[in-house]
Amino acid sequence: MKKHNFSAGPSILPPEVLLKSSEAILNFNNDNLSILEISHRSKSFVDVMERARSLALELLGLEGKGYKALFLQGGASTQFLMVALNLLEKRAGYLNTGSWSNKAIKEAKIFDDVYEVGSSENANYNYIPKGYDIPADYDYFHCTSNNTIFGTQMKDFPKCSIPMVCDMSSDIFSRQLDFTQFDLIYAGAQKNLGPAGTTLVIIKEDILGKVSRHIPSMMDYKVHLSKSSMFNTPPVFAVYTSMLTLEWLKNLGGIPAIEKVNDLKARLIYSEIDLNPLFKGFASKEDRSNMNATFNLVNDDLKETFDTMLKEAGVDSLNGHRSVGGYRASMYNALPLESVQVLVEVMSELETKA
Ligand SMILES: *Cc1c(COP(=O)(O)O)cnc(C)c1O
Repeated sequence: MKKHNFSAGPSILPPEVLLKSSEAILNFNNDNLSILEISHRSKSFVDVMERARSLALELLGLEGKGYKALFLQGGASTQFLMVALNLLEKRAGYLNTGSWSNKAIKEAKIFDDVYEVGSSENANYNYIPKGYDIPADYDYFHCTSNNTIFGTQMKDFPKCSIPMVCDMSSDIFSRQLDFTQFDLIYAGAQKNLGPAGTTLVIIKEDILGKVSRHIPSMMDYKVHLSKSSMFNTPPVFAVYTSMLTLEWLKNLGGIPAIEKVNDLKARLIYSEIDLNPLFKGFASKEDRSNMNATFNLVNDDLKETFDTMLKEAGVDSLNGHRSVGGYRASMYNALPLESVQVLVEVMSELETKA
C-alpha cells in the first residue's frame, strides 16, 4: 500500500497523474514514441505547453486580463534573481517572512537597494508581520504567500499601488484569492503542481520593459514570452505532468473545490494539535498555513515512540525542517483527507499511551 506522503517537496501527486504520465513515458498520445524522445517542437508537445499555460491562467481566473504564463527552469530560486533583473531599477520592498524570503532578498541586493518593509525574524518567523507600509515610489513589492518551512501563510495581502510580486511555490492553486491583485506570481512546480524541473511564472505583461539594464536572454521574461515559453528546450516531462495535474484540478471543480478539502484537512490537524496536550503548534494561530502544519512534541522523550507509531501507520516524511525541528505535515492539494485522518489517529493514540 502506498504511504501517506506528507513530504514538503518534491511532494505527493494525484494517482491519476502518476498513471497517465508513466504511460506517456512508454507511448505518448498513441504516437508509438515516448514523451521523452520527441521534439519539443512537435505538434504533440506544443499542444501540451499551450494547454498547460492556458489552464494555469484559467484556474486562477486570469484569462483575458493581460496575464501570460511561462514554464521556466531553474526553480523558484532562479526567480529570486529574474524578478530583480527584470523589475528592479532603484529600490524594492520585501516582506521578510522566512528562509525563502531571505533568499529572494539576498539575490535582489546584488542589483540594488532592497528595503525590508517588515520582518518576523525576531520570533524565528512564527508569524506574518502586519501593518507595514509600502512606499509608493518603489519599483515593486515582494512577498511569500506561504512559508513552507515555518508553516505560516499570508491570509491578507496589502493594498499596493506598485507591482506586487509573490512567491506562491507552496500554496498556488490551493485557495481562492483575487489573483488580479498580483502582477507577477511564481511557483516551483514540485510543491503543488508537478514534479521538480519546472517553475510556473505568471506575469502581467505591462510591468515589463521598465528597467534600463541589459538583461541576458535566458533571464529576460520578454524573451521567453515572445517565444511562447519555448525559447530553449523546455523540461517536457515536468510540463506535461504539471498539465495533467492542472487537468485533474479542473475536473475536480477547480480551486473552489480543492479549497474546501484543504480547509477540512487543516482544521482536522490543527484541532488535534490544540486539543492534544502532548503537542504544541509552532506558528501563531491566526497565521497558520493550510499547506504546512508545523508542530512539536511538548516532551521529546516521546519522540521514539511517536516515530515508531507513525512508521507503522505508513505516515511518511513528517520531520520538520532543521531550522524549526519537530514535525511538519505538508498537506498539498493531492494529499487525501484520509491521510490526515490517519495522522490524527496516531497523535491521539499517543495520548492514550502516554
Ligand atoms: C521550495 C520553495 C522555494 C525553492 O524552490 P526551488 O524550486 O527549489 O528553487 C522557494 N520558495 C518557496 C516558498 C518554497 O517553498
